[in-house]
Amino acid sequence: MVTDLLRRTAAQTAEAIAAGDVSALEVTNAHLDRIGAVDSSVHAFLHVDTEGALASARAVDDRRAAGRALGPLAGVPLALKDVLTMRGAPTTCGSRILEGWRPPYDATVTRRVRDAGVVILGKTNMDEFAMGSSTEHSAYGPTRNPWDLERIPGGSGGGSAAAVAAYEASLAIGTDTGGSIRQPAAVTGTVGVKPTYGGVSRYGLVALASSLDQAGPCARTVLDAALLHEVIAGHDPMDSTSIDAPVPGVVAAARHGDVRGMRIGLVKELSGEGYQAGVEQRFREAVGILEHLGADVIEVSCPHFDYALAAYYLILPAEASSNLAKFDAMRYGLRVGDDGAHSAEQVMALTRARGFGDEVVRRIIIGTYALSSGYYDAYYGQAQKVRRLIADDFAAAFERADVLVSPTAPTTAFRFGEKLEDPMAMYLNDVATIPANLAGTPGMSLPVGLAPEDGLPVGLQIMAPAMADDRLYRVGGALEAALVERWGHPILEEAPPL
Ligand code: GLN
Repeated sequence: MVTDLLRRTAAQTAEAIAAGDVSALEVTNAHLDRIGAVDSSVHAFLHVDTEGALASARAVDDRRAAGRALGPLAGVPLALKDVLTMRGAPTTCGSRILEGWRPPYDATVTRRVRDAGVVILGKTNMDEFAMGSSTEHSAYGPTRNPWDLERIPGGSGGGSAAAVAAYEASLAIGTDTGGSIRQPAAVTGTVGVKPTYGGVSRYGLVALASSLDQAGPCARTVLDAALLHEVIAGHDPMDSTSIDAPVPGVVAAARHGDVRGMRIGLVKELSGEGYQAGVEQRFREAVGILEHLGADVIEVSCPHFDYALAAYYLILPAEASSNLAKFDAMRYGLRVGDDGAHSAEQVMALTRARGFGDEVVRRIIIGTYALSSGYYDAYYGQAQKVRRLIADDFAAAFERADVLVSPTAPTTAFRFGEKLEDPMAMYLNDVATIPANLAGTPGMSLPVGLAPEDGLPVGLQIMAPAMADDRLYRVGGALEAALVERWGHPILEEAPPL
């Protein structure tokens, strides 16, 4: 049963703790109990840190008892994607090759949520090294969608989205290289945000593709996402690509959602053929609401978005093949064949053969090929040129519109196995989310209702210019409020049938 304690938003929970209506320990215990009750079905978590969570909760209660100030999320339970390091806790990235590795340090994101008094419940399941759109590529078995346990929760951050949707955690952290926060949010009826590239530190985030990766918040409401965004964002000298500028006012924007007079651009290339009818329908209705709220809706064209997927699947494997070279059996986790009969090179080959799954191997091969001399210009070089054209498309569109919108994903959650044998079909799930990663611009997915044909959540994507993350929250906050008024919140009121 989803008790009132679990159902509260993160903002409400923090307020109740600060007011002394409930203790952080009670809140944490309620969530640990919930994990105990449903996670054998959902499998959102790879590791639950019961002791650590209880200790953090006690620290918040002690702080309050001592009369010291509490931050706006103190005592709120959070799930951390297993691609971010957390001192002393297993960090696997959903891969066998990291089995047994316990990092000796916290990622900056981990440290910031700790410093804010947020209670980390554990580490969540994901596609191996964040490669995938369904969490079926995890070496530890898939996560199930709380709305329908026979369906995928999206990926690669399916564990984080499912934990929030199933009320196992109020908040979660995901990472988004091509859509892995936004697409899982869409198919689980939750809110997910990919901040501006460089807006959130990547220190301690195990790299998939360094020029695309960005960590961000997963939540059930736009305000909760904003509160978490504010905690994790901001300059970090430990990350050379971190932006040294003030964090956009995302919390104020979420609280005062308003689209009056805003110009909202519908991206022509991100709808129509290939998009499920019920997804299109809910998307169009939501756009109608934005118009009704006083926004100016126009159509914009971003012609090079048609090549985004192709460019991404050269740039990502190229960077990934280089980033994953460090898993050499010597430094981290798994080691196979170290029996005195094999050379170091053989141990390395045996370990990588055993430790990496098929999708990872596929991308290492593609990336190594694309970077090899003689092919570099034809593949990687060309893809970088397309990347520039996509950024130019965004720039032109943002001349005419303050934000852009599209469906987040072409379909609702699909069944397990449906796209596993066909990598292209799997890759197409991110057709609408990938352009923002290539351009480094921020994006949000928020639920806009259930598709009539299957009763599953549909997500709408909002995109803004770099460092204008507050616009996502301003539009998202206004749309969410209007939707709640009209239909009730798709997840807060029509909780998944678990
Ligand atoms: N699904 C995309 C991929 O497989 C995006 C992954 C991600 O954002 N980490 O690469």
